[in-house]
Amino acid sequence: MKMLIGGQWIEKSQTIDVLNPFDGSVIDTVPAGTAEDVHAAIDIAQKGYEINRDIPIHKRISILKKAADLMQARYEELAVTIATEGSKTIQEARKEVGRAINTITISAEEARRINGETIPFDSAEGSENRVGYYYRSPIGIIAAITPFNDPLNLVAHKVGPAIAGGNAVIVKPATVTPLSALKLAECLLDAGLPGEILSVVTGYGNQIGEALVSDPRIRMVSFTGGGEAGERITRLAGLKKIGMELGSNSPVIVLGDADMEKAVESCVSGAFYAVGQNCIGVQRIYINEKIYDDFRNRFVSRTQKYKTGSQLDENTDMGPMITESEAIRVIDWVNESVSQGATCLTGGTRNYTLVQPTVMENMPNAAKLNCQEVFGPVVSLYSVASLEEAVQKSNAVNYGLHAAIFTKDLENAFYAIRHLDVGSVIVNDSTDYRVDLMPFGGVKQSGLGREGIRFALQEMTEPKVVCFNL
Ligand code: NAP
Repeated sequence: MKMLIGGQWIEKSQTIDVLNPFDGSVIDTVPAGTAEDVHAAIDIAQKGYEINRDIPIHKRISILKKAADLMQARYEELAVTIATEGSKTIQEARKEVGRAINTITISAEEARRINGETIPFDSAEGSENRVGYYYRSPIGIIAAITPFNDPLNLVAHKVGPAIAGGNAVIVKPATVTPLSALKLAECLLDAGLPGEILSVVTGYGNQIGEALVSDPRIRMVSFTGGGEAGERITRLAGLKKIGMELGSNSPVIVLGDADMEKAVESCVSGAFYAVGQNCIGVQRIYINEKIYDDFRNRFVSRTQKYKTGSQLDENTDMGPMITESEAIRVIDWVNESVSQGATCLTGGTRNYTLVQPTVMENMPNAAKLNCQEVFGPVVSLYSVASLEEAVQKSNAVNYGLHAAIFTKDLENAFYAIRHLDVGSVIVNDSTDYRVDLMPFGGVKQSGLGREGIRFALQEMTEPKVVCFNL
């Protein structure tokens, strides 16, 4: 596909192959964008901002709604794109398309709720004759940098609110999965979005990223990805708004009174959804010692029923990892933890990018699988004596995106809600639960700010005060 700069579809002599991670076959190519392309996109986005801030809200709403309809009409094509350039199975990919349509639809709905309020100026002595209000004004040009694991919906989460709020937006999609973002852009342009408002520049983040994030004309960098790139971008960005949606190694607590069958089923699904390449995927499970053996046996046996294979096979439960080097890294982490004292209960092997779903126990504190984000299909089980111990161990990492607890006891649930240091606590489901309108984001190294359309709209607009001296 070509890349999109201010309404023009651009080819370049230098291209990047887009591969199917299952077999390494080339499915398409995209241009290798350069810093000059980024500058051209920013030049046009300045006009785009001036255009969009003057578009009446009802018109922005109708463009976003029409784009959602066009996505609906291209549902299966978008799902196949996600499941061919990325790791998700076709069933997982269809769910992502449904969510992305929802994200764009909610962006349309929220556009009419970008409210300000009146200001009681006369509460200050000397201001008796002043009246006024503030409204939320667009901030300008937004750089949206996105990861590979939800190549459509995470782009929609930035582009939808950016457009709804009256901004211009330049997307830099993950190099391995650019096609879904380009197809979303097609839907928006076909829905009547003026071309100047949206660009999608393809290319390597470490080559074009600096030109994009350091330019003072960019007023906000909205980044979703890993902590390393996030830190680098934060240092480069300078004086501008920053939204950071980063990683985690999410904990789940299973207490003795939990519905065991439900807990096993949710945790297996939460650990291996999208091959564990999921920022809210289950990585650490703290199980009460009294039910540990039963939980472990059921968990391993359910995991062993998982079928790995091609993403497009309707019977595949878990597809390939995104690249072979990522699959190698995950197996290295497993082997390293075993050399540190961990036990591999099932999995721990790979064939090219297919990594078997892996369950570990006796994980030492210092192992990467315990304290870092694995971003692969590996989950560790821990036996704990009490809820307090489970919460303390859940919190003993640098991340804090989602945490979950299975229990029927309200007091225990509220203890966990109060004491877990995370952005969301999920009760009686795994950490892998999200709807697109909720405030989504983390504490500690998991990020800064919140997405979830209404919350992203707050970040992507700013209050502008109007005061009349009567
Ligand atoms: P990544 O390697 O950090 O890449 C994310 C994006 O940043 C890509 O588009 C990448 O471009 C770009 N990038 C890399 N270096 C850059 C630089 N110096 N300047 C500007 N852009 C740069 O992450 P990933 O492997 O795609 O995704 C996995 C990570 O995303 C995990 O840590 C996961 O937890 C996190 N994630 C978080 C959330 C959330 O909402 N909290 C959701 C999903 C994923 P290239 O592709 O060209 O390198």
